[in-house]
Amino acid sequence: MRVSPVADELGRRFAAAGFELHLVGGSVRDALLGRLGDDLDFCTDAHPDDTLRVVTGWAEAIWETGREFGTIGVMRRGLRIEITTFRAESYDGVSRNPLVEYGTNLYDDLSRRDFTINAMAVSLPGHEFTDPFGGVTDLAAKVIRTPDAPERSFGDDPLRMLRAARFAAQLRFAVEPATLAAMNAMAPDLDRITAERVRDEFVKLLSGADPVTGLRLLVDTGLADRFLPELAGLKLEIDEHAQHKDVYEHTLTVVANAVRLERADGWPADFVLRMAALMHDIGKPATKAVTGDGRVSFHHHEVVGARLTRARMKAMKFPKDVTGQVTHLVALHLRFYGYGRGEWTDSAVRRYVADAGELLPRLHKLTRSDCTTRNRRKAAALAADYDALEDRISRIAAEEDLARVRPDLDGNAIMELLGVPPGPIVGRAWKHLKELRLEHGPLDRDAAEAELRRWAAAEGITAD
Ligand code: ATP
Ligand code: MG
Repeated sequence: MRVSPVADELGRRFAAAGFELHLVGGSVRDALLGRLGDDLDFCTDAHPDDTLRVVTGWAEAIWETGREFGTIGVMRRGLRIEITTFRAESYDGVSRNPLVEYGTNLYDDLSRRDFTINAMAVSLPGHEFTDPFGGVTDLAAKVIRTPDAPERSFGDDPLRMLRAARFAAQLRFAVEPATLAAMNAMAPDLDRITAERVRDEFVKLLSGADPVTGLRLLVDTGLADRFLPELAGLKLEIDEHAQHKDVYEHTLTVVANAVRLERADGWPADFVLRMAALMHDIGKPATKAVTGDGRVSFHHHEVVGARLTRARMKAMKFPKDVTGQVTHLVALHLRFYGYGRGEWTDSAVRRYVADAGELLPRLHKLTRSDCTTRNRRKAAALAADYDALEDRISRIAAEEDLARVRPDLDGNAIMELLGVPPGPIVGRAWKHLKELRLEHGPLDRDAAEAELRRWAAAEGITAD
């Protein structure tokens, strides 16, 4: 196993001061998987004050924000390094937040970690490998398992159940049967964990290499019901004359499609796109209706879905801008289906682009992902229609700088021409010009000024 020279350097410093230092956790796991990142986690018997003394003069930057939990953060040659004093923590019986209690040996520290694959260590500078719970075997077998009895481990920290699903999604590993059984039995315990910690693990799960595996685990174990109950709710009873696809399976396929399209275009994992794919049909159960001729409809499910998405993401404590982006994509996901056989007017195309704004590249991928029909001819026709729409958008964009559809006169020009001070009139005039711009494309300066005067006269606006 290759260990960075920076790690060896740090190991020698700790040894010189009479302390142990070990590379641990995800860093060892990822190194064995051949993908060591820029984050390195270490543990030591040194207490934070001693650690500070050892790294001062060597570190290019030091963070003490985690100090009360025993962690000192350090930056050195582009590596983000965290050094944590051995833990032997106990839990407060209620919220089960760990109470920090320093340990004295590596074994105890490793035994309180979440999974065997995360409970291995490499000592520095000696490179002695410690693996008390069979992490290497589980890594080779691609298995997620707790070091101790899973009921006890999840009882200590229920977030670990969510982390199991997260690592399954990131690493494409399977959860070992006894660990899985404990997740099934103990899912309600997740309610003891704060929304923020649940959210952070969920983001990593959905951003993983194989989010569908993680999502199935969440739903099958009942963990999803604790923080995202709409997901299992997509399993609608199949109608006798099943006129609609299974919305749950369809949704997972759309997520998988979105991941595929990201990769095809060299995008890094895009949480907003994936979350929109996951939530796009969330309004279907509430809007389901069976019409007179026995057909199933979901009228305005994108509107209802956008509302449910906003409420759910707010409850999950997502930042407003992320929630806004996902919600907006859900609201727009059906718009393209009105495109028919290229019958949109130029103004409809402009509105599509203007309404999507900076979300347009994601809307393209979401809409294409949503086509999950097994009928090849139908799928090819839809893809061709979307190709045609994208072509039209680029053609119009080339002519009109569509990316920023703005009125042809700005606020200052409006105030000057109408002789009005800043205020609501300027806003109304701006909106009117933007509407014209969307409807007809760009106007030249003279035409725009004439339009503005005509509008002002009709509105009875005169300069004071
Ligand atoms: P990554 O940082 O790539 O998401 P990681 O394995 O480093 O993955 P972290 O959340 O950074 O995960 O945690 C670092 C290490 O700390 C883990 O590998 C594990 O050993 C330990 N750990 C983290 N959270 C827990 C927990 N809730 N219970 C027990 N051990 C944990
Ligand atoms: Mg980490």
